[in-house]
This record gives sequence, structure tokens and C-alpha cells, in this order.
Amino acid sequence: AAKAKGRDQFALFDPSLDDASRDRRIIEQQLREAIVREELVMHYQPVVSLATGALTGYEALVRWKHPERGLLHPNAFLDVAETSGLIVPLGEWITHCAMMDAARWPDNLRVAINLSPTQVKSPRLASAVSEAIEDSGIDPARVDFEITEHVILDGSEANQQTLIKLREMGTSISLDDFGTGYSSLSYLRKFPFDRIKIDRDFVTEVAESRSSQAIVTTITRLADALGMTTIAEGVERPEQLELLRRLGCTEAQGFLICEPLPAGRLSGAALDTSGLGEPEEGILDYRR
Ligand code: C2E
Ligand code: MG
Ligand code: MG
Ligand code: MG
Repeated sequence: AAKAKGRDQFALFDPSLDDASRDRRIIEQQLREAIVREELVMHYQPVVSLATGALTGYEALVRWKHPERGLLHPNAFLDVAETSGLIVPLGEWITHCAMMDAARWPDNLRVAINLSPTQVKSPRLASAVSEAIEDSGIDPARVDFEITEHVILDGSEANQQTLIKLREMGTSISLDDFGTGYSSLSYLRKFPFDRIKIDRDFVTEVAESRSSQAIVTTITRLADALGMTTIAEGVERPEQLELLRRLGCTEAQGFLICEPLPAGRLSGAALDTSGLGEPEEGILDYRR
């Protein structure tokens, strides 16, 4: 049977590889097939306005329905996708899928799509995005791309040019995981982001730690001064939500509001844009 599977499978048992490299090899091979076999699915997590409680959009988060290991989160495979280059075709599929789904939502809702450094570096990104916009018919003003500071810092001038191209198509660009990286602020001058996403690290402790409160306050003021808005990620408790609102944060997302859900389950309150109706089952009442 091993013989019938051909050369690629055989290479998985190369005795010169250590366990970790062998695992990566297996994941890479399976991921390559997963794209073809349509084992990847998108989940969407609601983002709400802290001023009104209204839904403003969703963040698209990829999942892999692994035939043996169940539903895998990106931390189990994105690393391999990134280093093997598979992130490029995978990212194109994600971008297309997310825009097709979002095109069916009420037209005041955004979709946020994460882009890794390798995706931004790919010369194909801009044309893939423009094709997805065309195929889905979505208003590009509803599309937001989330990148981390690494894209600006380890990238050449070319990365910034790519972001500018995406902007020129009418999309917006957000800075993800703010505050957890090199923590130099110089890159905030290099690219005019639309939004800053405050990392879950600060949100987790915001109700207990004065220093987290000070950091969140500083980020919201900095964003304000730069003409950007803020999104707090990973809100799990009502006290955190209330504090974030008081500290001037613009929007929030997190398990307290709603976990990421497949497109087919975004109905009822999860698609209710008024923010005033009764919360549906499974969605906690985060409004006061
Ligand atoms: P991220 O962009 O910072 O996404 C937020 C992560 O926090 C998601 O994990 C989400 O499920 C999780 N999360 C949301 N609310 C809460 C909460 O209240 N508590 C906790 N503990 N976690 C919460 P996920 O989906 O496992 O994604 C992990 C990372 O993988 C993302 O971090 C993003 O960097 C990357 N990623 C996810 N989807 C994609 C994608 O489609 N393309 C690319 N390039 N990267 C992706
Ligand atoms: Mg993100
Ligand atoms: Mg994030
Ligand atoms: Mg994160």
C-alpha cells in the first residue's frame, strides 16, 4: 500500500528527519490536499460598536475540518502554511470565500480578513483581491484587511506599496494584535491604518490591572490623534466590556459577545444590526 501511494508519501518516512520535521511534512502534505478536498471552512466572529451595541461586522477566521483530528484552529497549521508557501493559495481561497459570504450580509456590515506577511509579500495578492471583489460584487468599502506590524517592519517598501494598492481599491487596513510585538511606534507613521486592534493580552487584565487600563487608554488616545479607531479583541467578561467602553475604545469582539460561527449560523441576533433587539440564545446580553 505504501508503494501505491507514491513518492511523496514515501518521503514522509525519511529516517533522516526528526519527529518535528516529519510532523510538519505530514501537515504540509495533508494541507495541500485539504485545499483541493474543500476541508477548509470559514468561521465569522461578530464585532460590535461599544457606543451602541450594534453589530458592525465580522472577522473571518479559517478552520480546517481535518478528517482524523477534527476541527483545527489556525495555530495548528498556519505556521506550516506560511513556511511552505501554501498560505498563498490558501489565502486566495479564504479571501474569495469571505467576500462571497459577506456579499450576502446586510450592506452596512464589514468583513475583516487576516493577511499573513507571506501573503502581503506575494506579487499575486492585489490581483487576487481585485478578482474576489469582482466575483463577489461586494462594495470594497466593506472589506477590511488585518495585518500585524511584522508586515510593515520586516517587509520592504514593496509591502507598503501592496497595502496602498489594496487601499486604492477601496478597502481598509487594520493593525492586528497591537502592543504585543516590537512595540516601536515608528511604523504607525509609515502606514496610515484605519483601525488598531488592541490585543487580547491587555483586554484580559483590563478589569484588574491599572497598567492594562493605562495602556488601553493610551492606545485609544493615540489612535484618536492619528485619526484611527480601535477594536478590542478577546472580551470574555462584562466588566471588561464596560471598562473598554469607558476607556474610549470604539468596537469590541470576544466570546462574551459571540464565538466565531460558520456563515450558515449567522442569523437572528448575530445578523441584527440594530443592536436594540433582545439577544438571541447563545449570545450573552452585553448591553447595559
Ligand atoms: P487574530 O486575528 O488575532 O484572531 C483572534 C483570535 O482570537 C481567533 O483565534 C479567535 O477565535 C480568538 N478569540 C476570539 N474571541 C476570543 C475570546 O474572547 N477569548 C479567546 N481566548 N480567544 C478569542 P483563531 O481563530 O484560532 O485564530 C488565531 C490566529 O490565526 C488569528 O489571530 C490570525 O492571526 C490567524 N488567522 C485566523 N484566520 C486566518 C486567516 O484566514 N488567514 C490568515 N492569514 N490568518 C488567520
Ligand atoms: Mg485578526
Ligand atoms: Mg488579533
Ligand atoms: Mg491575536
